Amino acid sequence: MQIKIDCPQCGGDIVFDEEIEVVRCNYCGSTNQISGKSGNPRFMFPPRWTKEKCRHRIASLLSGKVSWRLKKKGLHLVYAPYWRTIGMVFHWLLGKKEHTSPIGGRSWDDAKELKAKLFDFSFPAYKEPDLDLESLGVRTAVIPLQLFHHTRLSGSEIVLPVEVSLQEAREHSSSFLTYGFSDPSFRVEFKDTQLIGEVYSLVYFPFWVLEVTGNNRRGLLIIDGVANRIRKTVWDQDVDSFFRENTSSEAAAHFSDLRLIPFVCPVCGWDLPFSPMSKTHVCATCTRAWIEKAGSYREVEYQLVAVPEKFEHATRYMPFWDLGIQIHTPDRVLQNRVDLRTLLPNLPVGSESGNGAQSIKFLIPAFKIRGPKALSKLATIFCANPPSRPLRAREGLEKEKFEGVCLGGEEAEQLAQVVLISMVPRYNRRARKVLKKSKISVETTRLIYYPFYRKGIYFREANSNHPIQRGTVVLGTD
Ligand SMILES: [Zn+2]
Ligand SMILES: [Zn+2]
Repeated sequence: MQIKIDCPQCGGDIVFDEEIEVVRCNYCGSTNQISGKSGNPRFMFPPRWTKEKCRHRIASLLSGKVSWRLKKKGLHLVYAPYWRTIGMVFHWLLGKKEHTSPIGGRSWDDAKELKAKLFDFSFPAYKEPDLDLESLGVRTAVIPLQLFHHTRLSGSEIVLPVEVSLQEAREHSSSFLTYGFSDPSFRVEFKDTQLIGEVYSLVYFPFWVLEVTGNNRRGLLIIDGVANRIRKTVWDQDVDSFFRENTSSEAAAHFSDLRLIPFVCPVCGWDLPFSPMSKTHVCATCTRAWIEKAGSYREVEYQLVAVPEKFEHATRYMPFWDLGIQIHTPDRVLQNRVDLRTLLPNLPVGSESGNGAQSIKFLIPAFKIRGPKALSKLATIFCANPPSRPLRAREGLEKEKFEGVCLGGEEAEQLAQVVLISMVPRYNRRARKVLKKSKISVETTRLIYYPFYRKGIYFREANSNHPIQRGTVVLGTD
């Protein structure tokens, strides 16, 4: 989905993909951070036709229909609100899967499957009236959305109230998360569904409503203002009775205003390095890291892992969320890797501290990875065997390359559950039973950068040589 916003410097149109965090204006070249993306922003679709054009073209919409005998009266623009939920769905299934052998025998074997997808779901945020449009569908992919604000309206439009609260929207969306995942050959013993990085926004959708009379009846034609198609005809109603009679009070919801703020370091005033998809920016001058929160920058603490001595490859720093987690099982709390190995004996024996540690180190990649499955796979490699190396001082960093942080800290915490299940071998029934009744708590979260070098089709972590296929990473800078 694309969003259109005005450049605060020159007023020109800036159109950007919703994944983008930092935009550059094509007209004046200024660079800005987008603020307010995660706090329930509101958007609107402009209607494709102006009122005049709609009046003019209505005859062609009606051609071939009986309605040609109708007399056309008033034409109104109605905005109806829709909730839109986006995020990544991770759905783990553990249990038994039916296998059919080539000679016809059937068996049920221990099985484990991760189903994952990008979630993009919309539905009406109004309850009345029925406008015969249940979802925004592909419309969100076709035209850029604009920011919704009352000042953008002329005053003559009818804006339907939001009657479905954010809480109700969450509940409704969550019942569709696993849609399309059902698998009759799977006997599920344990499943886990996570929606990660979810954003709820409100999209006002335009309908043209034409009042008509004919055969001693009056009615309304409801026209999809984006697809320019008649959705339905309502008889024995006028605009007031159809739209205003049922309107109840608006559900209280707090929305954010999307706006652009200057993309400069708040301490030294220099431009931050342009990396459009990154949520965190490391200033090349003072090496502080910044994240945008509610319209201003906040400093993010980070650490850097040292490169081995006499390392001759060029490196780039890739960000990870370093989580200290505990696993609360029905019997006890698993606090370190020694504890965790009692549940998962297959875990590699890492070099990190074992007995004394108060938490289990989970290392979740924060850089941009193509697709949820690749993300879960990589996270599992780094959590199962996290490289633990000395840190380096934050000195002489001016020339270093920092890859952008695209996965937020909270999203990394949600992903920990997906990764933990991923570490359980499918035949380990005991671990499966314990995990079903366990909960993860995240004790500490910090941002840490590991040095990687390029070799063949891989990026490899400089200390551990853990590989990442280059094709699965979306680099923000070269
Ligand atoms: Zn501009
Ligand atoms: Zn700075």
